[in-house]
Amino acid sequence: MKPEHVEEFFRRLAERLPDPRSELEFESPFTLLVAVVLSAQATDASVNKATPALFELANTPEKMVALGEPRIQDLIRTIGLYRTKAKNIIKLSEMLIAEHDSKVPRTREALQRLPGVGRKTANVVLNVAFAEPTIAVDTHIFRVGNRTGLARGVTPEQVETRLEKAVPARYKLHAHHWLILHGRYICTARKPNCPECVVNDLCAFKAKTTLEPPKTLRVKPARTPGRKAKAQRGRARLAMRSA
Ligand code: SF4
Repeated sequence: MKPEHVEEFFRRLAERLPDPRSELEFESPFTLLVAVVLSAQATDASVNKATPALFELANTPEKMVALGEPRIQDLIRTIGLYRTKAKNIIKLSEMLIAEHDSKVPRTREALQRLPGVGRKTANVVLNVAFAEPTIAVDTHIFRVGNRTGLARGVTPEQVETRLEKAVPARYKLHAHHWLILHGRYICTARKPNCPECVVNDLCAFKAKTTLEPPKTLRVKPARTPGRKAKAQRGRARLAMRSA
C-alpha cells in the first residue's frame, strides 16, 4: 500500500474511533498482565467473565500466590487451557515478587522472561499499561494486514515488522487497537462487512463482499418445464388431434 494510502487508512480509522481502548477489563498493570495471559487462545469476553471474581480476591502478585493454584483454576475454569494458565499466573507472580519488586517490568525482554508471556502479550502490556507504540499482532491484525495489503507476511513477526515500518508515527500508539477492532467487528474472518468498511477503496482484498439485494427484489429464475409437464402437454395435443 502506498504511504499516502496508509496515512489515509489510519486517518479514517482514527476519525471513526478517536480514543480506542482494550476490551479487556483490568485495574492495574498487574491485572492487565494476568488478563492478557488468560486471553491467549480465548476471547476477551470469556476472560472478562472470569476476572472480576479473581481480581476481587487477588489483585497483586502476593495475593495471587496466597490464593494458590487450585483456587485460581476454579475461578478461571471457563477459560481454555485454564490449568496451564493458572500455573503460569502463580509462577509469574512469584517472579515479579522475587525479581521486580512486585511490579510489572517495562521492557519487552523482562516481560518475555515471565512464564506464559510471549512477544504478543509483552507488546499488549507495553502498549496498554505503559503507552509504548508497540503493535501486538494477533489473529485479527494478521488477517487485516494481509487482506488490505497494509502489511503482508506469513508470520505474525513479519506483519509486525512491516506494520512498524508502514504506520505513520502519529498513529502508532493506537494502531494496535484500531486494527484489532476493525478485524473483530468489520473485517471479520468469515464474512467481512466490506460495504460498510471505511477503508474499502484503499483495501486490496480481491474477494470483497457486496450488498445483497433485499429478498423482495430478488428475481426468481424462470422454471423450465419438467418432463412430467411436457408429457402431459404431448398427451393433450394427441387427444385434440384424434378428437
Ligand atoms: S474492504 Fe473488506 S476486506 Fe478490505 S478491510 Fe474493509 S472489510 Fe476488510
